[in-house]
Amino acid sequence: MGGTFDPIHYGHLVAAEAVRSEYGIERVIFIPSGNPPHKVTKRVTNAERRYLMTELATVNNPYFYASRLETDRPGSTYTIDTVSEISRICDAGTELFFITGADAIFSILTWKDARLLLSMCAFIGVTRPGYNKSSLMEHIGNVNEQYEDRLKFLEVPALAISSTDIRRRAEFGKAIKYLLPEEVETYIKKHDLYRLDLKDFDKDNAIKYLSENLTEKRFLHTMNVAWEAVGIAERLGADKGKAYIAGLLHDCAKDVGQTPEAFKDIGVETYDGAFPQLSHGPLGAKIARELGVNDEDILNAITYHSTGRKEMSLLEKITFVADAVEPGRPEDAQREIRAALDQDINGAVVSALKRKFEYCARKGQSVHPLGREALSYYESLKN
Ligand code: ATP
Ligand code: MG
Repeated sequence: MGGTFDPIHYGHLVAAEAVRSEYGIERVIFIPSGNPPHKVTKRVTNAERRYLMTELATVNNPYFYASRLETDRPGSTYTIDTVSEISRICDAGTELFFITGADAIFSILTWKDARLLLSMCAFIGVTRPGYNKSSLMEHIGNVNEQYEDRLKFLEVPALAISSTDIRRRAEFGKAIKYLLPEEVETYIKKHDLYRLDLKDFDKDNAIKYLSENLTEKRFLHTMNVAWEAVGIAERLGADKGKAYIAGLLHDCAKDVGQTPEAFKDIGVETYDGAFPQLSHGPLGAKIARELGVNDEDILNAITYHSTGRKEMSLLEKITFVADAVEPGRPEDAQREIRAALDQDINGAVVSALKRKFEYCARKGQSVHPLGREALSYYESLKN
């Protein structure tokens, strides 16, 4: 069973055990992927640590083993290389299965040397919650017509656990107990693996300010955006701590008085009377400074989160997009912007800007010139 295992959790272990007993498998070897080559965008925990967690998670199952095969190999590894290596080590005639999530089964024919790979081992796709079984069965049927039933499928007890979710919980100091083996949990705590690095930012004080100054709905939105920004930053290899702070504080001024007077009182020059609904950006940056933020990039992300602007920094784009895709937003907008984000962040910015303009049009509000400029700038980048 291959995976990033960042960290390994009960979803992986339950799935592997179900496959083992169903297919009478002698050994399940968990192979955490190695360190990714420099250019990939997803930031993962050091391969050695992921291997060690896998070892810890598998110690008390006599059929389970952890392998360093990919850990010790520099650069990225293709499944075909790993399977070839395993088959070389095994006794002749050993039957090999590759256990994987149903998500991977869909892309299997695009893997390197797919035909050869499928001739060397069968693939067992296990479902996880949220997978559409009928389209999976159809896909497996189609592939199996050409590949001698090499794709198999097993429904395992639904465990809605993912490594991403565990990391988010650990980053935000939430409980991860019962989602993964205790030894792994202890290892994560001991080495402080996923905690966000917020430098000297006083998060509790900021959250207290937000809970006292935002409506309940806005407070929830704010926490969602912080969470979302961390996830996007992780995928893009950006600073997750900064993304968290920018997301957390982006709307900190939204529910304080937005009158021109209020702006004068705090000495914000950028107030634009024609767009009162957008003034909470610059005003928010002012409050963020008072809450101890002095990083210019974070302050800019807050200032421009509502209008957007051309030539945004990566952090500004992350904050802008996170605000548009958080789970409280309309589902169709989320889907559209997330799909764009899977391609690249600039496309997601375009998509989020367009959604925003549509919203303004429906409300009879005019669009801020900075936003208009941003749209034509990011649209021109796409071509
Ligand atoms: P991430 O959230 O970082 O993608 P993950 O939880 O999906 O992590 P991976 O290391 O990517 O973990 O998973 C390795 C394999 O295990 C994948 O093929 C994945 O689909 C499968 N898998 C992960 N979680 C579950 C689960 N809860 N139930 C069944 N299979 C799972
Ligand atoms: Mg995954």
